[in-house]
Amino acid sequence: MNQVDYLRISLIDRCNFRCQYCMPEGAELDYIFKQQLLTDDELLTLIQFVFIPVGFTRFRLTGGEPLLRPRVVELVGAIASLPQTQDLSMTTNGFLLAPLAKSLYNVGLRRINISLDSLDPETFDQIIGNRGRGRWQQVWDGIQAAYRVGFTPLKLNVVVIPGVNDKEILDLAALTIDKQWHVRFIEFMPIGNSQLFGDRGWIASEELRQLIRDRWGLTESQVCGNGPADVFQIPGAKGTLGFISQMSECFCERCNRMRLSADGWLRPCLLNEDAQIDLKTALRSGISTTQLREQVRSLLAIKPEINFKQRDPGNTTGVYTRTMSQIGG
Ligand code: SAM
Ligand code: SF4
Repeated sequence: MNQVDYLRISLIDRCNFRCQYCMPEGAELDYIFKQQLLTDDELLTLIQFVFIPVGFTRFRLTGGEPLLRPRVVELVGAIASLPQTQDLSMTTNGFLLAPLAKSLYNVGLRRINISLDSLDPETFDQIIGNRGRGRWQQVWDGIQAAYRVGFTPLKLNVVVIPGVNDKEILDLAALTIDKQWHVRFIEFMPIGNSQLFGDRGWIASEELRQLIRDRWGLTESQVCGNGPADVFQIPGAKGTLGFISQMSECFCERCNRMRLSADGWLRPCLLNEDAQIDLKTALRSGISTTQLREQVRSLLAIKPEINFKQRDPGNTTGVYTRTMSQIGG
């Protein structure tokens, strides 16, 4: 059995983008009220006195858009400075990153994943929901700032959407040749925006690999924190290519993670909410951290039986209504 030692923590469910596949413009989303968000103190209490004692040592901060969280730099610093934190990383859309990159690095963040679905500003605007011009450039500036500051590995996440950005696979892969950047292609998942999924479907990672293999060749490789990604490299390239194939391959057996939502729900699986527990309400009702640890241990014990494929027997469409931003992607 895999050791579950990795916690993805959603800092906030809101976002400054409206990616078509995640929080499409016009979709009705039930945002979490401010009072329902875990406070900084509650989050730190859970990490220090509940998660670390039961064996979690690696944390990824995500969202929604984590950089929208008030006092995010201080919070990152507090988590990074816990002696048992072995690894701390963040997934961001990069829009607010340029001015924050150095401060985040200085307080102890070392690894960052930035979403970049297109190299073409117009396609990018289309994907993120036309939230205003110039957004691509600002994200690109964020990536450059993170690179200059020294984040390593610096990973770029690409959700591949048929007919939208699949023509850019080779250009995106080429980013890894001269720079130590790690581009990860993610199969588009049928959650959040079922309409878009129904219309377009997804492209299997192997199809992308073949495209890249035909152009440059491809060898197996490794990168720190590869998690569910299969990692490859263009021969001689400085960076790597990761493929996250949750649609075409089941990687539940090697799953090493749980997810904590911004309002304190602990979920053992991205797409299976049956066994989730509400740690915030428990904490606010005065339950001791010893009892909370027991609740988390019980969830850990049943995690191997919960997985992505047997997610919801009644659901014949395979489409899920909660978005990645709500689950804490
Ligand atoms: N806002 C940050 C960002 O976009 O990087 C962090 C949160 S976002 C929910 C985390 C990751 O989930 C991003 O890389 C995003 O592309 C991915 N994601 C969101 N919806 C998805 C979907 N339907 N299928 C595959 N990946 C998705
Ligand atoms: Fe926002 Fe990230 Fe979802 Fe895009 S994928 S809407 S940036 S949370």
